[in-house]
Amino acid sequence: HAKALGKNRFCYFVPSIQAIFAERLQLGHDLRSAMAQGQLDVYYQPIVDLATGHIVKAEALVRWHHPRRGWISPAQFIPIAEDIGLINGIGDWVFRRAAGMAKRLWESGCSGTPAGAPLQISINKSPRQFFTGHAHETWIDHLQEIGLPAECIAIEITEGLLLDERPDVTSKLQQFRRAGVQVSLDDFGTGYSAMAYLKRLDIDYLKIDQSFVRDMTSTPSDRAITEAIIAMSHKLGLRVVAEGVETREQRDLLSAAGCDFGQGYWFSRALPEDEFFKLLQRWPD
Ligand code: C2E
Ligand code: MG
Ligand code: MG
Ligand code: MG
Repeated sequence: HAKALGKNRFCYFVPSIQAIFAERLQLGHDLRSAMAQGQLDVYYQPIVDLATGHIVKAEALVRWHHPRRGWISPAQFIPIAEDIGLINGIGDWVFRRAAGMAKRLWESGCSGTPAGAPLQISINKSPRQFFTGHAHETWIDHLQEIGLPAECIAIEITEGLLLDERPDVTSKLQQFRRAGVQVSLDDFGTGYSAMAYLKRLDIDYLKIDQSFVRDMTSTPSDRAITEAIIAMSHKLGLRVVAEGVETREQRDLLSAAGCDFGQGYWFSRALPEDEFFKLLQRWPD
């Protein structure tokens, strides 16, 4: 009987592991043709200035509509794209789309402030893209080609990237900033968060991860951490974006703590290009 049970257990685990690999393999295979078949799109989620309520930026987020499976999260397919060598192609494609959107916003006079500063589009950059290829140069060249001021673009990088402390990563970041492209440190607090990086790195914004924001209204320690990150960032001359703002209460607490910007479902989800334009039109001034 024990033997039969063991056998059953054996049978229970093996196919599930196989299924995970098969699924990854299948998704990777489908992803290769997804771009050419027009299944990828870029959505835009507003980032609001908490002091004025204006939409001053937007984050570009890639979307994949699979013909059979429907929407697949970038949290699922970006790591696959990194593993199978598709991230440079997808990353460049997203960058061009998002830069085109920034140009459209800029030309139509949509600005992020009453003073007319351009609405900035923030684009995620995968760590792998920093290690291989010359994306930074290609991207900076592309902005010149389309005649878009670099201040209309920001790059988001995650902490994990910095832990490697590769000198080429730092120099690529510097190249962006020298060209006038701003840099955001994404998902702050989820990685190793070594304070030394903040001191050494050339960055403009820090994005507090949504896990802190989610619990800050219920858990005093998350609130304390969030407030401390904001205060520390300001002392270092960085501005702070809070991710995952879902309630009025969270927004108010962040505002009271002096947080500069908020992003989350409380304001809006990520929207297709045209819907983002409509949102801007009806957004209260
Ligand atoms: P991220 O860069 O931290 O992006 C923020 C994620 O939080 C987005 O998920 C966004 O839809 C979600 N979000 C925004 N507001 C809220 C909220 O109020 N509540 C909750 N629960 N979630 C909220 P999304 O679009 O599924 O993207 C997931 C991750 O995939 C991104 O995290 C980013 O790491 C990666 N990603 C997305 N687009 C790209 C891309 O074009 N290139 C690269 N390399 N990575 C991307
Ligand atoms: Mg991001
Ligand atoms: Mg983030
Ligand atoms: Mg995140």
